Amino acid sequence: MTPVVSFADRHVALFGLGGSGLATARALQAGGARVSAWDDNEAARAKAMAAGVVVVDISAADWSRFSALILAPGVPLTNPAPHWTVVKARSVGIEVIGDIELFCRERARLAPNAPFVAITGTNGKSTTTALIAHILREAGHDVQLGGNIGTPVLALEPPAMDRVHVIECSSFQIDLAPSIEPSVGVLLNLTPDHLDRHGDMDTYAAVKERLVAGAEFAVVGVDDEYCANIYRGLRERDAAAVAISHAPTDVSEIVHYDDGKLRRDIALNPGWSLVETLVDLRKARALRGAHNGQNAAAAFAACEWLDIPHDEIGAAMKSFPGLAHRMEEVARLDRVVFVNDSKATNADAAEKALLSYDDVFWIIGGKSKEGGIDSLRPLFGKVRKAYLIGASSEDFARALGGDVDHESCGTLDVAIERAARDALASSAREPVVLLSPACASYDQFPNFEVRGDRFRDLSRALVARMTTPGR
Ligand code: ADP
Repeated sequence: MTPVVSFADRHVALFGLGGSGLATARALQAGGARVSAWDDNEAARAKAMAAGVVVVDISAADWSRFSALILAPGVPLTNPAPHWTVVKARSVGIEVIGDIELFCRERARLAPNAPFVAITGTNGKSTTTALIAHILREAGHDVQLGGNIGTPVLALEPPAMDRVHVIECSSFQIDLAPSIEPSVGVLLNLTPDHLDRHGDMDTYAAVKERLVAGAEFAVVGVDDEYCANIYRGLRERDAAAVAISHAPTDVSEIVHYDDGKLRRDIALNPGWSLVETLVDLRKARALRGAHNGQNAAAAFAACEWLDIPHDEIGAAMKSFPGLAHRMEEVARLDRVVFVNDSKATNADAAEKALLSYDDVFWIIGGKSKEGGIDSLRPLFGKVRKAYLIGASSEDFARALGGDVDHESCGTLDVAIERAARDALASSAREPVVLLSPACASYDQFPNFEVRGDRFRDLSRALVARMTTPGR
């Protein structure tokens, strides 16, 4: 834990007692703050009390006593409307901040130059964060990995010069961290997301930009207009920044992905450029596809700046195990690979998986999102057959029409059996049984993790059954 001493002996209000809120309350109390914590959820309050947190109904409190409101990132700061605690805090003129801000203040106090890598973007945050942490660990560093992924930042060990913090930051966390100034700031990409919470795209981009604007060294994706503009702005200010991309571009001094390889492109004279191959990613099984090329390019640039030798970065990329539920290879049977991409809860995410494989036996369906799978039509040629599950079955059968061979399976266990049967019988070089549902899971599962775990279990059971001697 990182005790927060910047509020020692002062009263603070804290709202939101989920995982990160609870860790924050405990870190503040450990540092000597007088915390009044609250959550609308009774179970969350009970859990906090059991952990020794002082739970007080702050709606009835005297707010003039408080020095700050510490807000959990899930609670609306601005949109659709400020939470009632934010209104109270503003009425008495106190700051509203979150756990990342408290971490930054502790770092400034304890070890202002301690290495701190902060990662944000609309997509690929968790993969890139985990990859950077893996590379640094393989290189022998003491790595603290957390934030929006896994362990809350204040539950990690405190900042120190010989310890690297690799922290995933959501836009909500950045919004609550006015003094975020990481050693390395990574901004991967920006596409419309969470606009219900940020109002409009410009506001959302401005929040994300703060993470790289305050960084000592910035790594910025230039594959979308918003991030490309942010990168240009940094260069105009002579900030230390490097561009990354999922494809060759006309930007100079860029680390980019190109046909299975990471390369660096440096423009010399007009029409001439120096191209250096940095890492051959074709053996990095957990980093397939151009979208992972973007993530790998960002991780390369960040780790290079932290002085990790190129060959060590390359070797660690190859041994990176990947994250569960994101194009996770869970089993193999002869030439057939079983891939769990349960995190793909919309068509955009499923597109990344379809782009990464040929000869797909595709398990899709669940609770569908607006637009369904129509945007995936250009990739239908990669699908040998689709296996429909869940509430979206009729809609998706209509969308696939006569273009893709498909059958209705109802449930995941039936779909796997049939997909595996057809994949084994196919003549493809590497047939892929892919769960990339392009749908939320709520019609049949509590969440995408449970759906993915079930796919993994069923795949492995099927492989065990098929490989048992005498079957
Ligand atoms: P996040 O933490 O930002 O949600 P993840 O690393 O968990 O991102 O990846 C979630 C999904 O987003 C992946 O399954 C993949 O479909 C997609 N994805 C991953 N990286 C990228 C990227 N760089 N660009 C676009 N989409 C990506």
